Amino acid sequence: MNAFDGLPPLRQVLEAHGLDPRKALGQNFLLDLNLTGRIARQAMPLEGATVVEVGPGPGGLTRALLAHGAGKVVAIEKDPRCLPALEQIAHHYPGRLEVVEGDALAVDPSTLCEGPFKIVANLPYNVGTQLLLDWITGPSWPPRWTDLTLMFQKEVAERIVAGPDDDHYGRLGVLCGWRTEAEILFDVSREAFTPPPKVTSAIVRIVPRAEPLPARLPDVERVTAAAFGQRRKMLRQSLKPVGGETLLGRVRIDPTRRAETLSVAEFVALANALGA
Ligand code: SAM
Repeated sequence: MNAFDGLPPLRQVLEAHGLDPRKALGQNFLLDLNLTGRIARQAMPLEGATVVEVGPGPGGLTRALLAHGAGKVVAIEKDPRCLPALEQIAHHYPGRLEVVEGDALAVDPSTLCEGPFKIVANLPYNVGTQLLLDWITGPSWPPRWTDLTLMFQKEVAERIVAGPDDDHYGRLGVLCGWRTEAEILFDVSREAFTPPPKVTSAIVRIVPRAEPLPARLPDVERVTAAAFGQRRKMLRQSLKPVGGETLLGRVRIDPTRRAETLSVAEFVALANALGA
């Protein structure tokens, strides 16, 4: 038994349920409950909160969230092999863990619970960026989720928080900077995972802006796609498909600048000038 919560150690859980990690499912498990506890604490206050977790796997982070007082965890897991291990946790915390078997890409988390909720996850790397994009491009804003505490590959984390003149700045940084405030909290070394992934990871915390600069999402997506589609070119060239120099003239942006020098506010101005 484990001093943390009285459940078996995670290594034993993997063995008992034959959970050999599968690469195709992005399975890099965290077996150290001190680390999952540290991640869970970044999402505080947890007492009584509803948390949606993507990819609970053998349940290391799930257990930490519950042990730190989450009122309810709704966990979406694609791998049916993990369900018996999660069932054991649900039994230990009666009425507080609901497991949904399925593909998180096909599930809108706000349909899984009522009221405000948090999303906390050690994301499968192959779908992490897409999931984040889905969550920050929801049709209504602010969203029902109050904050995201997520593990990404470090390089993706850097793209999420990047601003102008940063090599990592691109579409993801503009969309995140426009609708949210994002920060990297700490790095997690490869050795913390079973099996170790190829690169370092990082925990990112993302909070929605109550009032992002007004713009239509499809317009922001159009200008950022064009600008960063040819990021080394001057804007007068890269923005040609959406209006080029005429568009830039409307918002008085120097056409010889490059996408990576534009602030989020300037991208929003361009988006709003599209239909002008
Ligand atoms: N939370 C566990 C931990 O920290 O040890 C496991 C994290 S592991 C990086 C990613 C988990 O996501 C795996 O359990 C995997 O089966 C699951 N997964 C992969 N793709 C998924 C998807 N599309 N929808 C839901 N879960 C998925």
